[in-house]
Amino acid sequence: MTSLGLKLKVAILDRTKDKVTNLFRLASVMETQLKRSYQISYQTYINFPISKFNNHNRIINSGLDGFAYKTFFSTIKKTVNVSFFMKYRIVRNPDQKMNNEHLIQIMDNIGEMKNLYGFAHNIGGSTVSLNVSYVNNIIQGLDNNTIPHELGHTFSLLHVDDQSTLRSDSRQYWTHAKQNTKDSTNIMFSGGSKYNTDLTSTTVVGDQINLLINAYRNGKLNLN
Ligand SMILES: [Zn+2]
Repeated sequence: MTSLGLKLKVAILDRTKDKVTNLFRLASVMETQLKRSYQISYQTYINFPISKFNNHNRIINSGLDGFAYKTFFSTIKKTVNVSFFMKYRIVRNPDQKMNNEHLIQIMDNIGEMKNLYGFAHNIGGSTVSLNVSYVNNIIQGLDNNTIPHELGHTFSLLHVDDQSTLRSDSRQYWTHAKQNTKDSTNIMFSGGSKYNTDLTSTTVVGDQINLLINAYRNGKLNLN
């Protein structure tokens, strides 16, 4: 069994004109939702290289004697328990965001935000904008999807049902058969999917945590 701790630092900023949102409540709900979605226990397989022996117990590690050189892998199954931790602070302008922080900014329902719940600025990025008109739904527990979904994009997750996912990272694409399983409550269905609902699209699968870990190890997270 392996324990995995995901630690997220958040700077919260209200950029609206009227500043009506209770940022402390929003932060507390965010933490609850992120724990609900990302604190999972899952089984995964890891490959590790092993040496193969010939009939004389000699390690075969070259192309001698007609054997092509090859690394052999053995696979073991392990259980991963994920814990999610969030720390936050409230800031007054975007420049106060530090490099190791995500910026969650609340915006007025105008311009590029018009009628959007929110959006992540980049895949693997660190800024998420939320539309003030829909923040109350989040605080009241009617929308449990927007926060885990948009932060999912910043953790390098793509829409599982989007054709464009096939081109950018086909590992993340789910066939229709795979969509129509117990995992139909996944957080990463696109807004247009029949499986996407504000209230119940809250789950994450182990493959998505593995992707997130790989992206982190390869320096592809926390970008701007
Ligand atoms: Zn999305």
